[in-house]
Amino acid sequence: MAITAGVVAVQGDVNEHAEAVVEAAADHGEAATVIEIRESGLVEDCDVLLMPGGESTTISRLIHREGIAAEIREHVASGKPVLATCAGLIVAASDAGDDRVETLDLLDVHVQRNAFGRQKDSFEAPLDVDGLDESFHAVFIRAPVISEVGDVDVLATWDGRPVAVRDGPVVGTSFHPELTGDHRIHELAFFE
Ligand code: GLN
Repeated sequence: MAITAGVVAVQGDVNEHAEAVVEAAADHGEAATVIEIRESGLVEDCDVLLMPGGESTTISRLIHREGIAAEIREHVASGKPVLATCAGLIVAASDAGDDRVETLDLLDVHVQRNAFGRQKDSFEAPLDVDGLDESFHAVFIRAPVISEVGDVDVLATWDGRPVAVRDGPVVGTSFHPELTGDHRIHELAFFE
């Protein structure tokens, strides 16, 4: 039996996430079929969902306009998993600190966009992640800071700040776990 993985594809890094989820599934002896979500009516067919990086203002505007936002909320309400990365994390948060982003309130965190500072616009860091035996090489690109955490599990921190969190079926990361060929974060979100 194959699982169906939906990548929210209105804008942002779609292909890398599609590859990562297929490989993560294969490691668990499962096949994954990937569908790209740009319109309503597809989310209900998905076992797992990915909300990629990109531009959170654009992603939030389009998923609301297309009627996808409410479907993502229903997916989570029924206990199905979501991995939300970078801009995806911003959209999934309860507060993005920016009126142009209408958040989905799937993760009980406040974020600040682009807040790791200009010199650190993009950087890479080895992270200790709860649930992984060895460190994860994380790539941060104009990454959001998680500035307040509510009722979530913090899975990893960098520089004293949370950069990976879990709120029930939803995992959010400030960084891009799809860019390095290491799909352990996808496994953690979907298969463990
Ligand atoms: N800076 C982007 C935003 O605020 C996120 C960057 C990313 O997803 N790589 O939406």
